[in-house]
Amino acid sequence: MSKQQPLTPKFGSKIRLKDFDPDYCEDLDKKTAKKEEDRLEKRFAALQEMLYAQNKHSLLVVLQAMDAGGKDGAIKKVFDSVNPQGVQVTSFKVPTAEELAHDYLWRIHKAVPGRGFIGIFNRSHYEDVLVVRVNELVPQDVWVKRYDQINAFERLLADNGVTILKFYLHISKDEQKQRFQERLDNPDKHWKFSLGDLGVRERWGDYMQAYEDAITLCNTPYAPWHIVPANRKWYRDLVVTRTIVNALEQMGLAYPEPEDDLTGVVIPD
Ligand code: AMP
Ligand code: MG
Repeated sequence: MSKQQPLTPKFGSKIRLKDFDPDYCEDLDKKTAKKEEDRLEKRFAALQEMLYAQNKHSLLVVLQAMDAGGKDGAIKKVFDSVNPQGVQVTSFKVPTAEELAHDYLWRIHKAVPGRGFIGIFNRSHYEDVLVVRVNELVPQDVWVKRYDQINAFERLLADNGVTILKFYLHISKDEQKQRFQERLDNPDKHWKFSLGDLGVRERWGDYMQAYEDAITLCNTPYAPWHIVPANRKWYRDLVVTRTIVNALEQMGLAYPEPEDDLTGVVIPD
C-alpha cells in the first residue's frame, strides 16, 4: 500500500521533489480511475459552459514538466470534452526577437484568458526561472528577482478575476528514459524528439533544484502549485481534471439572467 501523499505543498514550506513519489496513485487501478475521469469530464463540460455564459471569471491552467512529462498528453485528455470555443492553448517556445525586446512577462500577460475563458499554458513564465536559470541565459541577479515579480504578477491576475492553477507533472528520470525510447522507436513520434532533449536530461539535477525553488517560492494561496504524480498517465489526468473541477465548483458559477423578461414570449411564424 503506497502512503498518502499531499499533492499541494504547504504554503511557505520548502519542498523537495524526492519526497514526492511519481508513481503514487492512491492504489487506484486504471479502470476505476478512467470511470471517475469520465464522470468528472461531464461535470467539467457543464461548468465550462456556465463559465463561458456568465462571462465573469477566467481560469488559467499552467502546465510545467520535464520533456516527455506529459504536458501535451494532459492537454489532449483532460480537455477533450469541453467546448473548444471557450478554451485557448498557448505553447511558450524559445522567445522570439520581439518577445526578447520586452520584459519576460509581456508575452505571458497577452495570453492570459479573458473573462469566460479557460487558458492553458503549455510551459509558461516559469521557463524564465527554469531553463533560463539552468542555462544561465541571464545573470543570477536578474533571475533571482523573478520569483517576487511572478508572485506580484499572479496576484494582479487573481485580484482581477483569474483563477490560477499551476501543475508540475512529476515524472521520474527512468520514466523519461522509457518515454524517450518510445519516441525513438516509433517513427511517428520522431518529431517529438530532439537531440537537445538529451542535453536537458543531463542537467536533470539542476532542473529539479530550479523546480523546487520555483514551487517553493511561488506557491501562494492565490496561485497554488500542484505536484502531480505523473508516471501513470491515467492518474496524472485524473488529478488534473479533479483539481480543475474543484476550482470551478468553488467559483459560484451560474447562468446569467436573461437581458429581457422572456415570460410569455411567442416566436412569430
Ligand atoms: P517544446 O518542448 O517543443 O514545447 O519546446 C519548447 C522549448 O522552448 C523548450 O526547450 C523550452 O525550454 C524553450 N523555452 C520556453 N520558454 C523559454 C524561455 N523563456 N527562454 C528560453 N527557452 C524557452
Ligand atoms: Mg517537448
